[in-house]
Amino acid sequence: MGDSRFSEYFLMKAEDAGEYVREKIDFFRKDEELFCEEIGDGNVNYVFRVRSGDDARSIIVKQAGKATRIDKNWFLSTDRGRIETDILRIQDSLAPGLVPRVYLYDPAMCAILMEDMVGYTMMRTALMEHRRFPLFAEHISTFLVNSLLLTSDVAMEHKKKKERVKSFVNPELCEISEQLVYTEPYNNEKDRNLVFAPNEDFVRENIYENKPLHLAVAKLKFDFMNNAQCLIHGDLHTGSIFINDTHTFVFDPEFAFYGPAGYDVGNVIANLLFAWCNAHATMEDGADRDAQKQWLESAVADVIDLFILKYHNAFREHVDDSMAKVEGFEDWYLSALLESTAGVTGLEINRRVVGMAQVKDITTIPDGSKRVAAERALITAANRYILEAPRFRTGADFLENFLNAANVYMGETPCR
Ligand code: ADP
Ligand code: MG
Repeated sequence: MGDSRFSEYFLMKAEDAGEYVREKIDFFRKDEELFCEEIGDGNVNYVFRVRSGDDARSIIVKQAGKATRIDKNWFLSTDRGRIETDILRIQDSLAPGLVPRVYLYDPAMCAILMEDMVGYTMMRTALMEHRRFPLFAEHISTFLVNSLLLTSDVAMEHKKKKERVKSFVNPELCEISEQLVYTEPYNNEKDRNLVFAPNEDFVRENIYENKPLHLAVAKLKFDFMNNAQCLIHGDLHTGSIFINDTHTFVFDPEFAFYGPAGYDVGNVIANLLFAWCNAHATMEDGADRDAQKQWLESAVADVIDLFILKYHNAFREHVDDSMAKVEGFEDWYLSALLESTAGVTGLEINRRVVGMAQVKDITTIPDGSKRVAAERALITAANRYILEAPRFRTGADFLENFLNAANVYMGETPCR
């Protein structure tokens, strides 16, 4: 293999990907013609789809560039491909079928060969088309409980867990979250926040000049950096989920590291709320809009409530540390996890509304006054999630806080 042109790293083009796959694994028939295209739409990596002419088989090659694709001068360690591969394999073993299968990781080319999620839509896109997915809460709550609880010290042999912590140290990707989630939305220290002009005063008063908020966020920031609780996905927004009517895939976990469990759960909740705002602001008033909002409201509540239910089941089944079984610990550990979930729900909302990495659900709302209202509702709810985090204990608590703010700013009686 030493003389293969793929034995030394270079950035592939679509023309290279077919030959590359053939050389690396036995996936296609020898005689079949292959078609390749670059389908990446993210900011960071190159994604190639290689398929047979009859469309019977296809595979994805995800290659990490040395620099990101949005900025040639922004370098990121290519080790992220190794991290993404390792966590996908762990998640697949803990939550079978809920992540794409990895066939091979090639450290020379920093490329992952993985299952093509054909027939699925990115969840953010599907939600902006106002589609509903009744099984989503069921699937994602299983993914969250299994991938989070079962990688933590309460369910893992402690030395093995520490080995895991070591192998998932991910400083460069973590730094992005430390800046974009936990710092810049509050002080604009790099002058790259994107505040919707009519909300400048609102953001200054409620975010930039909100001292109690800054203290609460500072506490959450150092929890993110110091609480090596479990192996988190680290970027679980609706652009990291592919979905259809029957199944859900979570992908793109290159931000993974050992961090607080609430980070993943809070990201899911916040992104469902963006979809609610999009539905409210862009659909015609009527039964269909009500149904869309109602489904999103139950999804928010169900994700939390099913998470709690499955957490207790998994705790009873998998926890065998004698001190973790001390009376009261199971509930205390869950309360802390929900508190951190509430805090992160608020952080994810604020950073997507004012920070540099925004979400289309909000930025594409065509009616400026509706966007203003949605952003104000979101910020108001976010600050309460952060400042009053310990009081969020059930799905209904999470939902009610958002609907109260929506009612004030978006002039809408909640659907339930
Ligand atoms: P990045 O790390 O650059 O954000 P992603 O993993 O998000 O890359 O992939 C970018 C896009 O490529 C996705 O939005 C999706 O459209 C496509 N993609 C990535 N992985 C797969 C896959 N396994 N199956 C199908 N499409 C994929
Ligand atoms: Mg991505």
